[in-house]
Amino acid sequence: MSTGNAPTISAGKVVTLHYVLRDDDGTELDNSAGGEPLRYLHGAGNIFPGLEQGLLGCSLGDRRKISVAPEDGFGEHDPDGVQRVPRDTFPAETRLAVGLEFEAEGPDGDPILGRVIELDDDEVTIDLNHPLAGVSLHFDVTVAEIRDATAEELEHGHPHGEGGHGHEH
Ligand code: ZN
Repeated sequence: MSTGNAPTISAGKVVTLHYVLRDDDGTELDNSAGGEPLRYLHGAGNIFPGLEQGLLGCSLGDRRKISVAPEDGFGEHDPDGVQRVPRDTFPAETRLAVGLEFEAEGPDGDPILGRVIELDDDEVTIDLNHPLAGVSLHFDVTVAEIRDATAEELEHGHPHGEGGHGHEH
């Protein structure tokens, strides 16, 4: 930075975040401590708009609590996504169990993830909604790194890994 000021989050910065994600009840849904921190390119739509908006202007080490409503997150829970289907909809070798996740074909022909939520002798109740549909997302984020994006990252619209370009697109 030519100004000599500490960098703050703005468009064109690659930002690394530690985060804890909780629902309305305070139940932890995800935590970067158990995996990779979140790295994104600010201004490129890599993350939920509400989260991106809440991070604008933050500095290194800043901690923010940012909530994202269901409609701005994984969408509202659609009752039509809950369906009862005959057991033989599934291949015979499938070990059906409540909580089983499976891939199904969505309305656009794209694969979507479904879950078994109920099971009886003849029928299986499945939910084709995203597991976090209808859930308010409460992020508790800490800014771990802010750097300028490279020209290549800006062109691609996403950050690249530590060692440079680690993917095919
Ligand atoms: Zn790329």
